[in-house]
Amino acid sequence: MPLVHGTEIFQAARKGHYCVGAFNTNNLEWTRAILGAAQEKNVPVLIQTSMGAAKYMGGYELCQKLIEATVKSMDITVPVIIHLDHGDYEAAKEAIAAGYNSVMFDGHDLPFAENVEKTKEIVKLAHAKGISVEAEVGSIGGEEDGVVGEGELASVEEAKELAATGIDFLAAGIGNIHGQYPANWTGLHFDRLKEIGEAVDLPLVLHGGSGIPQDQVEKAISMGISKLNINTECQLSFAKATREYIEAGKDQEGKGYDPRKLLAPGTKAIADTVKEIIGWMGTKEVKMVPEEI
Ligand SMILES: [Zn+2]
Repeated sequence: MPLVHGTEIFQAARKGHYCVGAFNTNNLEWTRAILGAAQEKNVPVLIQTSMGAAKYMGGYELCQKLIEATVKSMDITVPVIIHLDHGDYEAAKEAIAAGYNSVMFDGHDLPFAENVEKTKEIVKLAHAKGISVEAEVGSIGGEEDGVVGEGELASVEEAKELAATGIDFLAAGIGNIHGQYPANWTGLHFDRLKEIGEAVDLPLVLHGGSGIPQDQVEKAISMGISKLNINTECQLSFAKATREYIEAGKDQEGKGYDPRKLLAPGTKAIADTVKEIIGWMGTKEVKMVPEEI
């Protein structure tokens, strides 16, 4: 069974100065598209659910079982990490109990001391089952009340303190944003990334990977970013392909309304987007990875 926790995969990526993609799933089609693309490219992949997606799909147990069963039915042989994206304390505990391979505990909105304490508790619970843990320092920007904010830049001291809790990888706010980037965005704060990369001996995670110019992502990867989170880019390509299908009237031709036909172009578009991103982020093929672990 190719399900694995994330620690060795991301440590190998950090050592080799490449990145492994973390893609959000929302349903069976997205799961198949992401897994199929990773298999075709012969690379490890992290497939993640947000708390909202897990609720939408029917809970953590269902998500874990759906992904695990899809891995089996598609004969996926590349390493797959089932991960919780931005979990709160309760969600992280639920995902651990449901058999996820990896969880992100996002305590960035808690007072920092409480974030550290709760992260320690999650690390203890997760590591007892061989599950890897991601935590977040600073915050990732995004849209609130129609205004796109840059988020809070990660503090180097807090990054060190959070790393000392025993987490396996660290997400740092360096000017990155969830969702689409505004026209006046000023770019990633590489000075801060450099300081954190030197202070913390862990693979680093870049959230909001959709929409950051490729050269900036490549530079970030060379500076220690080992996990790149992609969500919006797949949503946009799915929506575009689905809209084109309907606008072309194909849902009204023959049995074009059949959901298996209606969802096919969007599903293919997700797979194409995932393959394209895996291609340029330089993820090493699976046969290369064990030598570096
Ligand atoms: Zn995120």
